[in-house]
Amino acid sequence: MDRSAYELIFSAFAFVLGAVVGSFLNVCIYRLPLNLSINKPRRSFCPHCKTPIPWYQNIPLASWLLLRGRCAHCGASIRFRYFGVELITAFLFFAVWRAFPWPLALAYWVFVSLVIIATFVDFEHFIIPDQVTIGGTIAGIVASFLVPELMNTESRLAAAVRALLAAALGYIVLLLVLEAGKLAFGKKRIRLDGPTPFTWKRHGDDAEFVLGAEQSLWSDYFAREKDRLLLKCEDAKIDNHVHNKVTLEFYYNRVTAEGQTLMLDDINEISGTALEVVIPREAMGRGDLKFLAAIGAFLGWRAVLFSVFAGSLAGSLVGLFTLLVGKRVWSAKLPFGPYLALGALAWMFFGDAFVRWYIGVVSPP
Ligand SMILES: [Zn+2]
Repeated sequence: MDRSAYELIFSAFAFVLGAVVGSFLNVCIYRLPLNLSINKPRRSFCPHCKTPIPWYQNIPLASWLLLRGRCAHCGASIRFRYFGVELITAFLFFAVWRAFPWPLALAYWVFVSLVIIATFVDFEHFIIPDQVTIGGTIAGIVASFLVPELMNTESRLAAAVRALLAAALGYIVLLLVLEAGKLAFGKKRIRLDGPTPFTWKRHGDDAEFVLGAEQSLWSDYFAREKDRLLLKCEDAKIDNHVHNKVTLEFYYNRVTAEGQTLMLDDINEISGTALEVVIPREAMGRGDLKFLAAIGAFLGWRAVLFSVFAGSLAGSLVGLFTLLVGKRVWSAKLPFGPYLALGALAWMFFGDAFVRWYIGVVSPP
């Protein structure tokens, strides 16, 4: 066989391997944030009816298409995400294989897998599991020792030290941003245009919160136990008890009004007129710090800086866009992990080209 035939076979293999790995990443994305074991039960099961899925219905990419996104047993629809993750992983495995020599490609396959788990878990749960971030940092340092090219050196020891330092840099850079951001963005005060009617209505475990024209889900505001939402009211009616000129202090499970604390579980409806609202907001969590450390351990210190800048830029553009199309008047939660991931992948594929371009701009020949 000639060279191009080999190349074709290996590229096809990389794509298929990516789809298979993507199928496993789906399991991680579903189970890690729920603290379920990833190898017990060994067999995948339908999230709806819990029926184990036989191997012939669990073929990456193909099964989802053949079953038209439905469970063969109960007919419940299976989220497009399962297919999407398999396709993205397959494509990235293929692209990595085409772009890098094989020892580097192996390390980047591991990295790409971690990035995909982090992105999809963060989108849904606003956390990045420690297995991915701390585990990823350790994996990056080990990978740099085994494949020193990752850190642009031939010495294994130097590569491991560089990976460690880049990880530390990632953690510290975001720690500084986080501490500075707490002062600026830790909470957001929204002054309303005059007295605005609001209602809070319980629906089972959650509640619907309507303030003026903005309708939202109560659980969207609270990421942590300490998160607090303040509502300065002209008047407020909690079930049938009326308060005048009161500030309601909400936590995810309780509300305090005039020194009296009530559990939200015992309340069906709160309504009244609001003057001002302060919502808890944190653009970043500890998971992002550890995630950037993992990015540094695999891609080096320049990738750390690039990911922060590119990620912030992409995040701001998306935030601006959702504001413009009027999806939300404000966003209480903004996952940052997916943007860091995007920045890191951009660096992995185009970092060298970017540096060459940048040097050309700064010092033209
Ligand atoms: Zn089912």
